[in-house]
Amino acid sequence: MTTEFLQSPPVFDLVFTGATLLGTAAGADVAQRDMTLAVRDGSIAYIGNALPEGAQVRRVVDATGKVLIPGLVNVHTHAILSMVRGVAADAGFAPSYTPGIPKGTQVNPEQARALARLGALEAMLFGSTLIGDNFVHADVTTEAMAELGVRLAPSWRIHDVDFAQVAEGRWHYDAAIGSRTLQAALDLAARWQGNDRVQVQLAAHAVDTCSDGFLREIAALAQQRDMRVNMHLGQSVVEVERVKARTGRTSTQVLDETGLLTPRLMGGHCIYVTADDIERLARAGAHVVHIPKCNATSGRLAPTPDIKRAGINIALATDTQHADMIELMRWALVTARVQRGGVDDDWQPRHVFEMATMGGARALGLADRIGTLEVGKRADLVMLDFARPHLVPLVNPLGNLVHNGQGRDVRMVVVDGEVLVNDGVPTRVDLDEVCREAEHACRALWQGVGREYWKPAA
Ligand SMILES: [Zn+2]
Repeated sequence: MTTEFLQSPPVFDLVFTGATLLGTAAGADVAQRDMTLAVRDGSIAYIGNALPEGAQVRRVVDATGKVLIPGLVNVHTHAILSMVRGVAADAGFAPSYTPGIPKGTQVNPEQARALARLGALEAMLFGSTLIGDNFVHADVTTEAMAELGVRLAPSWRIHDVDFAQVAEGRWHYDAAIGSRTLQAALDLAARWQGNDRVQVQLAAHAVDTCSDGFLREIAALAQQRDMRVNMHLGQSVVEVERVKARTGRTSTQVLDETGLLTPRLMGGHCIYVTADDIERLARAGAHVVHIPKCNATSGRLAPTPDIKRAGINIALATDTQHADMIELMRWALVTARVQRGGVDDDWQPRHVFEMATMGGARALGLADRIGTLEVGKRADLVMLDFARPHLVPLVNPLGNLVHNGQGRDVRMVVVDGEVLVNDGVPTRVDLDEVCREAEHACRALWQGVGREYWKPAA
C-alpha cells in the first residue's frame, strides 16, 4: 500500500524508515510493519514500503525496532497544578476545593510560568502533542507552554463564584468576577488568533461555580465565536449537591437549559451523570473527557461503559495527575472492565488508543488535521522505543503499548514536522532549568500555606 502527495522529484524534510506504524487509516488495531513515513512542510506527505525513487531527504531517522503513533491528544490538564502533586491526590477533593494547599489565585505570574513549563514539558516528553490546559494565569502559561512548541488548546478558568469563599464552604456569585474572568478568556483568544498551533477555548469551570445567567452568557459567546467549551461536569458530590440545591436539576440538565449542551461542549470527568444525562449528552453530540486516573485515585469511576454504549465521543486527559497518556490508556481500559466485570469487545486496546488520539481530535474539531498517521494530516507524531524488556516480543504492538507501555518509552515527539523531543530530550528548552525553576516556585507557594518544604540539594 502506498499513499502520497508527490511532486517530482520528491523532497522531504524528515523521513522515518523501518518503522512499525499504529493509528493509520488501516484502523486502530492494525500494525503496519517496516514502513517509511515522510514529512514535508509540516504535513505527512508519504506513507509506503520504501521511499519513492529519487527522493531527496533532509533528515532520515532509522526507526527499526521503533513504533510510530499519532501524537497523543491530552484535552484537559492544569499544568500549574503540578505544584500540588504528591499531596492533593490524597486529600479527597479537587485541588480548587481543597483547604490547606496552594491555590491558583495565590500563584504569581512568574511562578505560573515556571509551573506551566514543568507540566507541559512532562506531558510532551511522554508523547502528548496537544495539551488542552486551563487555569488562572492562562495569559502567561500559554506563552510559557507555547515556547515548548507543543500544540495547545488553552483557556482561562471562567467562573463567577468567589473561589476564596468556596474553600470555606460558601458559594457566592459575583458578576464582577464573572466579567473579569470572561474578559480575560476573550483577551486570550484575541491574543492567539491566527496562530496555527494554539486554539483558545472557553473553560467555564463547572456548573456549581458558574451561575445560570453566566452560563447562558458563555453559551451565547461560544456560539457566536464558534469556540469549544471545556468544563468540569459531574465531577464531585459537592458540585452535584450545590447545583441541585440551587436549581433542582443535574449539572447536565442545567447545561441543556442554558444552551451549553452542543457539539462544542467537552465535559470533563462525568462521574456523576444519570441515565438521562447520558442520553442528553448523546443527543446533543457533546464530548465526554474521560479522566480515569484522577477519578480512580479519588475512589470513583465514571460510567464509561454506558457513556460509550450511548455513542458519545470519548476523549482522554490526565488533568492534575501524572501527565502520561500512555499509562492513562491502561487506566481507561481497566476501569471500564472493572465496571463490566470482565473482558468484552466494547473495551479493547484499540478503543482506548482511539480515544487518546482521534477521540481528542474530534472533541476539539481537529479530526481532519490530527489524530491519525495519514497523508495530508499535520505531522504530529511520537516515536517509541520498543526494543526494551517490557515491550518484547512485538507480537501485538498495540497490546504492548496499551498494557505495558510508558511515557518513558517515548524517544521522539514531532509537531507540525518539527522535532520537539529528540532522543528523549526537549529541543527548545533546558530540562534541568525547567525543573529547577518549578521547584523554586513551589517552595515559595508551599511555604505560603505554612507547609514544610523539602530542600533539594543545591
Ligand atoms: Zn480539571
